[in-house]
Amino acid sequence: MNKFFFIALVSVCISAAAMAEKLKVVASFSILGDIVRNVGAEHIEVIDIVGPNSDAHIFHPTPLTAQQIAEADVIFINGLGFEGWIERLIEASGFKGPVVTVTKGITAKTFADSNQSYNIVNDPHAWHSIANIKIYVKNITKALQEFDASHALDYQQHAERYLAQLDDLEEWVQRAFQQVPLAKRKAITAHDAFQYFGHEYGITFLAPVGVSTVSEPSAHEVVKLIEQIKRESIKAVFVENIANSRLINQIAKEAKVDVSGVLYSDALSEPSGPAANYISMMRHNVSTLVKVMTEK
Ligand code: ZN
Repeated sequence: MNKFFFIALVSVCISAAAMAEKLKVVASFSILGDIVRNVGAEHIEVIDIVGPNSDAHIFHPTPLTAQQIAEADVIFINGLGFEGWIERLIEASGFKGPVVTVTKGITAKTFADSNQSYNIVNDPHAWHSIANIKIYVKNITKALQEFDASHALDYQQHAERYLAQLDDLEEWVQRAFQQVPLAKRKAITAHDAFQYFGHEYGITFLAPVGVSTVSEPSAHEVVKLIEQIKRESIKAVFVENIANSRLINQIAKEAKVDVSGVLYSDALSEPSGPAANYISMMRHNVSTLVKVMTEK
């Protein structure tokens, strides 16, 4: 055999073997998929069930989804009631492997949902707190180290690198909000996805529907919100990348304010968009909010 051909053949075999050894990971939604990719990097292959700009609250699985789950080595989910459909799907797919809930250890916010007879429900949108994402990273790292022990040290190093980026992000966000006066720290979004974010940075978020986009707004709640926007001169009114913008457009029109832009709530943008990963999503959301809240 020609020596060069032999070397080429060997390297093809090695890279094929390396690919075959990658841990097959399924993440329930795109934001989580990005966090998992940062920790797993070259050792894992990630499929996001609910992709960019898509709404995990009202996701309808297809036969392909069940197949992707059946073929996974490990599944990462957010939990706190975010992916209500996933348990049945996992059962139907025949998947018997580990399911890791990344919000384990997080203090969940609860919410009296006006659309569910004011029942107390968990607010699943924990990812809008960077402090919480650090807990996601720790849970993901521990799980990957357990299921793929041969790369444990690499997972640790990837996690440390990513945690340092999250520290930088946190510092940047804190600094960005320093310029916003307290009286301007109010925003309207399509659904209640930003309570963790609001808590971290002292911003009040109001929405016509509750923590899930499944709910329909009541006419009474909508009228109340329009009155509040007028009364408190709230200028920060946002549509979301995952939700229908019709209601927010209608509310803005009746309150006589302009829609201030798009916030990325429960999903990333397409790779070419402004929120292609978690860090750029946070930067986009913060810049968009700060811009409107500091306008004269
Ligand atoms: Zn949501």
